[in-house]
Amino acid sequence: QVQSTEAIAAFETAGPSAVSDCKGFEVKHLVKRYANADKPVLNDISFKVEHGTVLVVLGPSGSGKSTLLRTIAGLEPIQGGTISINEKVIDEGRPGTEKAGRSNRSSELRTRIGMVFQSYDLFPNKTVLGNITMAPLLVQKRGKAEVEAEALKLLERVGLADRKDAWPHELSGGQRQRVAICRALILHPEVLLLDEITAALDPEMVREVLDVVLELAKAGQTMLIVTHEMQFARAIADHVILLDGGHIVEESHDAHAFFAHPETERARQFLRTFE
Ligand code: ADP
Ligand code: MG
Repeated sequence: QVQSTEAIAAFETAGPSAVSDCKGFEVKHLVKRYANADKPVLNDISFKVEHGTVLVVLGPSGSGKSTLLRTIAGLEPIQGGTISINEKVIDEGRPGTEKAGRSNRSSELRTRIGMVFQSYDLFPNKTVLGNITMAPLLVQKRGKAEVEAEALKLLERVGLADRKDAWPHELSGGQRQRVAICRALILHPEVLLLDEITAALDPEMVREVLDVVLELAKAGQTMLIVTHEMQFARAIADHVILLDGGHIVEESHDAHAFFAHPETERARQFLRTFE
């Protein structure tokens, strides 16, 4: 079971400004500019992801997909617009922050959004269990027994219970990505961001990772997914956006229609590159 209700409960107890309605996740008029760049990478991006649904973000290389996920995760400051969860603003654009390292989000808010990257970024000096339990123990100050029990349940869910004491270098790429997913899930994120998590894997390992993600979607985990696996994208998406030139060039709430009959020439051209 994905802990979405627990995540909402945790959110509600976070403070009086937390909103009890479960509404999802929203980006409004987001502007992201890197220092020394002549134009913004993301220019007035708006979309909403309903709680329990999956948004697939498509776009050519360099279109700002990773930048979008990094800003949502709070790893990059934004220069305009807002990012909200359940109608609570968690990040607000401030001009002149191009050189700041991160957004100024609190660590509590940071844990509301989980992210898994293309490169397997497990801590090499910690076991599988150590990787998964580190943040809940150190950041959330949860109890060791409870955290380890939950980590084991998550490992069972992704088929890796027998590897809990392994070191990252002893695992395959597909196994490492499944551990990285567990490490994100144990924080009960309201939204899980996946940035091309199978792009660096050997083809025979792609399936085992995508199957885990499909299971999460079925269990109601809200996700934003960047992927170049078009069959997977078609299967998992409730909602699709295509990014190009800093803008959303096409958006669809009917993923099947988008893949079968895209409305814009740009989307047709983009999808043809995967045929
Ligand atoms: P995508 O993930 O769609 O390939 P990225 O978000 O990685 O695109 O990059 C979008 C644009 O922003 C590219 O032109 C890239 O060169 C630029 N960019 C990415 N990261 C940085 C950075 N840290 N500093 C400056 N420019 C960057
Ligand atoms: Mg990228």
